[in-house]
Amino acid sequence: DRLPIRRALLSVSDKAGLITLGKALVAQGAQLLSTGGSAKALREAGLDVTDVSDHTGFPEILDGRVKTLVPQIHGGILGRRDLASHLAQMDEHQIAPIDLVCVNLYPFAATVASGAGAEDCIENIDIGGPALIRAAAKNHDHVVILTEPAQYDALIASLAQGGSTLAERQLWAGAAYAHTAAYDAMIASWFAGQRGEALPETMTLSGSRRELLRYGENPHQNAAFYVTAEKRYGIATATQIQGKALSYNNLNDTDAAFEAVAEFDKPSVVIVKHANPCGVASAETLESAWKSALKCDPVSAFGGIVALNRPLDEATAEQIATIFTEVIVAPDATEGAKAVLSRKKNLRLLLTGGVPSATSEGLTFKSVAGGFLAQSRDAGQVTVADLRVVTKRAPTDAEMADLLFAFRVAKHVKSNAVIYAKDRATVGIGAGQMSRVDSARIAARKSLDAAEAAGESVALTQGSVAASDAFFPFADGLESVIAAGAVAVIQPGGSIRDQEVIDAADAAGIAMVFTGMRHFRH
Ligand code: 5GP
Repeated sequence: DRLPIRRALLSVSDKAGLITLGKALVAQGAQLLSTGGSAKALREAGLDVTDVSDHTGFPEILDGRVKTLVPQIHGGILGRRDLASHLAQMDEHQIAPIDLVCVNLYPFAATVASGAGAEDCIENIDIGGPALIRAAAKNHDHVVILTEPAQYDALIASLAQGGSTLAERQLWAGAAYAHTAAYDAMIASWFAGQRGEALPETMTLSGSRRELLRYGENPHQNAAFYVTAEKRYGIATATQIQGKALSYNNLNDTDAAFEAVAEFDKPSVVIVKHANPCGVASAETLESAWKSALKCDPVSAFGGIVALNRPLDEATAEQIATIFTEVIVAPDATEGAKAVLSRKKNLRLLLTGGVPSATSEGLTFKSVAGGFLAQSRDAGQVTVADLRVVTKRAPTDAEMADLLFAFRVAKHVKSNAVIYAKDRATVGIGAGQMSRVDSARIAARKSLDAAEAAGESVALTQGSVAASDAFFPFADGLESVIAAGAVAVIQPGGSIRDQEVIDAADAAGIAMVFTGMRHFRH
């Protein structure tokens, strides 16, 4: 039961592929109806096309605000071909059936992104287009709806076989409603933005499915990767150069790693396992950053995700290739680096095209039973100017640099997070414990293991600095950090027992600074 096209309405803002589609339709015997700009483009390509205004006997008015919003058009789309009463009414009012509607909408998002003023944005809210799309999709039993050039080839192929199938029309109808829903969601969030609200009254999460994943966090869960309209360098912009398909957990971990490495200005490396960093370092070169990051916890780094904030070079690729790594994500890679990694068939290399700004605005989401939580991205970045020295001893310049480094790492470690760092490299990371004391102890113990693995006689935490993502509620957490050998500490402060904690720091002769900002991450 294939559906041939007798009459097609083409009204598109994005003229890509329009001529090819028009030619295929004409070749199959269809009459073309079209609005101003689209008709002009088709005519220039030598195609016979009827202006909608000639078809309806009513001109396009109000600067194009009303072009197709007339009964001859909507009746022609919505009339049921299987109901005698509909056919009789169409006949009575001289409404010709329209079997295909191809519409893509005024470029609202692009207009907003270009920084256009409100009047311009509002003029780019398409009215007739969504009405055409929704009408044609509703009557998909008898009408084809196309909303983007990527769909044209499939239609052309089915025309060659006598017309579209119902299954095809159902697929396009669903896509059509998703398209108009996303379009209106975009407009709604623009209005919220105009009111200065980042979190509007109602919110529609909208994305296109990039990929069905083999499974979710576990094999008995279904999963897919959806891409939203947010333009942010990362897994959504990445090109996979080699390796098998990414899993749900790979994508989640890769995102965590790349967001973390984006915090640092110097060449940096973040190694992630189970969404937590297990080694982070900044250095003059990527290669030395990699070596320092790996030293923090070489056991956990096995099978990890490696994120870089500079294009991957050959020397660094050689080093990373020496241990089993699931994913490398970087803004780019040299040909030499790609050649090195091509020997590792299972390793996935993702190139994102750039590094996102760690301080840019945006929303993050989490689902809860019966709803979802939305919050602005943690774009907070503490600088020297934000710090308050609370101890008798102030940190040295070198300690200060490490403190800021460690606190940035803490932002990307699940709470409770305690991080030890030395020379812009983590030497111990304690993540996700229910008590801060445990996180401090675990980080110190892991650093002992790392020292042993590196053949060093003292714990890596000796003479290090420590960061805590939130305040120490009691002195015990700080005392365990001091016991591990930390000589300077960074933490938000703000506990009612701050003085107790400061006294413990002074008693040990260490330096401590308060940030006034915490970085919970759950
Ligand atoms: P054209 O470039 O052909 O002049 O215009 C194409 C655009 O007009 C398409 O994006 C389509 O969605 C839109 N459009 C079609 N009919 C109407 C209408 O009646 N009102 C408005 N505002 N837009 C329409």
